[in-house]
Amino acid sequence: GDGRLVVSFGEMLIDFVPTVSGLSLAEAPGFIKAPGGAPANVAIAVARLGGRAAFMGKLGDDEFGRMLAAILRENGVSDAGVTFDAGARTALAFVTLRSDGEREFMFYRNPSADMLLTPDELDLDLIRRAKVFHYGSISLITEPCRSAHLKALEVAKEAGALLSYDPNLRLPLWPSPEEAKEKILSIWDQADIIKVSDVELEFLTGKASVEDEVALTLWRPTLMLLLVTLGDKGCKYYTKDFRGAVDAFTVEQVDTTGAGDAFVGALLGKLVDDMSVLQDEKKLRQVLRFANACGGITTTKKGAIPALPTLGEALAFVEK
Ligand code: ADP
Repeated sequence: GDGRLVVSFGEMLIDFVPTVSGLSLAEAPGFIKAPGGAPANVAIAVARLGGRAAFMGKLGDDEFGRMLAAILRENGVSDAGVTFDAGARTALAFVTLRSDGEREFMFYRNPSADMLLTPDELDLDLIRRAKVFHYGSISLITEPCRSAHLKALEVAKEAGALLSYDPNLRLPLWPSPEEAKEKILSIWDQADIIKVSDVELEFLTGKASVEDEVALTLWRPTLMLLLVTLGDKGCKYYTKDFRGAVDAFTVEQVDTTGAGDAFVGALLGKLVDDMSVLQDEKKLRQVLRFANACGGITTTKKGAIPALPTLGEALAFVEK
């Protein structure tokens, strides 16, 4: 195999964001196209930081799908695992944060190409070449993508890849909160690494607290590393041998979109180089400091993908 490859599986889509902030969708005078989808962001984060990454998923054979595939390639991410579906359209989301503080969403997913990926369309050789196989939970919502996701996990595990899971809760996409919780937790035991945000921790445990005993209800003997990200408070980590917290950097926050993806990408990029990070607390803390830096940098710029740091930027930031 090629040793250091991160394969990230799931959805890639375009967010349409109003050109003027604070408005409802109906009031927006125009929209900016912001490419995203957490698994795609993670692949790009890895590549920006100098690592090898491939994105795996399905795009529509339309203008938007071709645009997204080009964005992967421009960022040094392999699109060899991308399937195009002539009969389907790329997922689109219209998203705004209104001045009253409410988020407003509208999705084009009825169904979108990402939801239509079938198990037969998976590039199994690419999965088997992954040193780390990363995924979210949106691909678990509906068939046939759900079966494709479950098969990909099975193949990756069998091939000895490290499985990395960021559920990345997007509640409006789920039929109900109960189903979200049940399906998100249904693949908990397969992962080696899980990263949740403080908000997801509360949603999944039903407890409004980020205390260790709450986080540890999400611990499994099958896990190697559980991470909880806390925005400007950094992150907490749990392994079978040690646990602790690593502070965030102080930044001028502009837009937090993509911060968690930058954090995960930075971590996975370091892990493929040196898996002993998972057993060595000193090394792990260094890597999480770097991941916090990458998350922090991402919050200083608008959008997800444009804000993900390059290796040069990240190194300059942690050294200053
Ligand atoms: P998610 O995007 O998954 O909700 P967070 O918002 O917790 O995740 O952000 C991920 C990481 O990015 C945090 O652990 C932290 O290191 C960094 N980060 C996020 N927001 C800030 C901030 N305001 N200041 C500094 N670092 C931040």
